[in-house]
Amino acid sequence: MAKPTLTLNGKLVEFEPGQTILQVAQAQGVEIPTLCYLKEATPTGACRICLVEVKGARTLVASCAMPAGNGMEIQTDSQAVHTSRRLNIELLLASGSHNCLTCEKNGDCKLQALAYRYGITDIRFKGQTQQYPKDDSNPLIVRDFSRCILCGRCVQACNDLQVNRAIGYGYRGAASKIVTTGDRPYQESDCVFCGQCVQACPVGALTEKKAVGLARSWETKKVRTTCPYCGVGCQMWLHVKDGRVVKVTAVEGAQPNRGMLCVKGRFGYDFIHSPERLTTPLIKGEDAGVSCARSINEDSYNMQKLFRGVIGTNNIDHCART
Ligand code: SF4
Ligand code: SF4
Ligand code: SF4
Repeated sequence: MAKPTLTLNGKLVEFEPGQTILQVAQAQGVEIPTLCYLKEATPTGACRICLVEVKGARTLVASCAMPAGNGMEIQTDSQAVHTSRRLNIELLLASGSHNCLTCEKNGDCKLQALAYRYGITDIRFKGQTQQYPKDDSNPLIVRDFSRCILCGRCVQACNDLQVNRAIGYGYRGAASKIVTTGDRPYQESDCVFCGQCVQACPVGALTEKKAVGLARSWETKKVRTTCPYCGVGCQMWLHVKDGRVVKVTAVEGAQPNRGMLCVKGRFGYDFIHSPERLTTPLIKGEDAGVSCARSINEDSYNMQKLFRGVIGTNNIDHCART
């Protein structure tokens, strides 16, 4: 059966039934900017940045949430689209306290990048913004809701991807805020500190506490590696500055973890630079060998061979059981 078609910026293209306009555009290599869109979660159309023009539609439509239709005529780069996107970016900037100089996310912020791209040099709208004190009461995540744009990505990351259901929207209207049950601090909530909300946050509202002040994004290089903790083999980026790991994030779209990590993989990297780390074999002198569960299977095999065959003891174990 022939595939449905639509016209994208004047070009006739085929698409798969069920695809959204955004997915069709991405498949065709046409870039539509997004902020709230989180792949693998149900689109919400909350931020209105991915607006496009559909011939015959009463208003511009959010391409992330609008199913593509046979015969549609779509413009992703028209004047109306640009004017509307620009206005929405200005409103988002005006809705919080966005002093990029003091923000941990400077250089790695999607809102900042969009403001630059659309040539926004001044904030036209001066409204009353909610004042939120920075919450750094837990050991791993800094929450600064004065920079939150209420895109909802953190909620989707927590509820739809990690299925922890620790956070959601709270309060109403201008007082809306992302909260745990009862608006308690993370450490007193159902949060398991996987940090998926931090990875999903496109702005500086959620940041890794251990990385604060250590490096700007352009000062680090990203080194891809496999998580050393368990057998799942999650793919992660080490963010390295001057030979030191300052942050860990998940590799988006890679198997087996598809952009997710647990608390150990994301935050448990202090051992790398710990002065207490063993760098030579520790000799206990008690006829017993304990090898490292983080090392490869072949090393563990060789370790038991050494102890059974050379040293002559069956007292051999590794730390996975501790
Ligand atoms: S969240 Fe983004 S736009 Fe806002 S201050 Fe931080 S870097 Fe700037
Ligand atoms: S750290 Fe994990 S569990 Fe906690 S709020 Fe964020 S996504 Fe949810
Ligand atoms: S904390 Fe970040 S991800 Fe969550 S709603 Fe605010 S801006 Fe979006």
